[in-house]
Amino acid sequence: MKISRRGFLGAAGTGTLGGVISLFGVPKSVKAAEIPEIKTVQTTESTTICPFCGVGCGLIVSAREGKVINIEGDPDHPINEGSLCSKGMALYQLAVNERRLNKVKYRAPGSPEWEEKSWDWALTEIAKRVKKTRDATFVAKEDGKIVNRTNGIACLGGAALDNEECYLYSKFARSLGVTYLEHQARI
Ligand code: SF4
Repeated sequence: MKISRRGFLGAAGTGTLGGVISLFGVPKSVKAAEIPEIKTVQTTESTTICPFCGVGCGLIVSAREGKVINIEGDPDHPINEGSLCSKGMALYQLAVNERRLNKVKYRAPGSPEWEEKSWDWALTEIAKRVKKTRDATFVAKEDGKIVNRTNGIACLGGAALDNEECYLYSKFARSLGVTYLEHQARI
């Protein structure tokens, strides 16, 4: 009997183990207790994109009570059709890792110490520095021609950005006058 991945998960999540057994035609001699529980049972699935490279493989992230339980390739995604390279397969370790930093760390110029800061502080500081650099390096005219450019800032997009984010990011950079605008996938 042919069954899709989603059909299988639906049966495992909502049906009884007996239902799953009959679905696959497992011999009656196999006891339900001998069948290991599928780890994605009773999880919420969300689709997303792998953040590592410009291929943009699709993923399914399964979470239970706000915690990531499993990450795997999305078989319905037209780019990877469920497959992942070794980096994509290791994504779970990126999400669930006690060594992952999830607070802002800041080291002031000349200081040997890292300080913990809030996200609000970091975003305000970045905005202040972008404005200061842009104001200091903006060139309105060159050789009598309007150029409106900022050579003091460069912007680099990454594969973790989706199409719409790349569009907004490049529009934002152009509005500052940035000419050094690149994407990770082109380098
Ligand atoms: S799974 Fe591998 S090939 Fe696909 S986007 Fe991630 S890093 Fe790139």
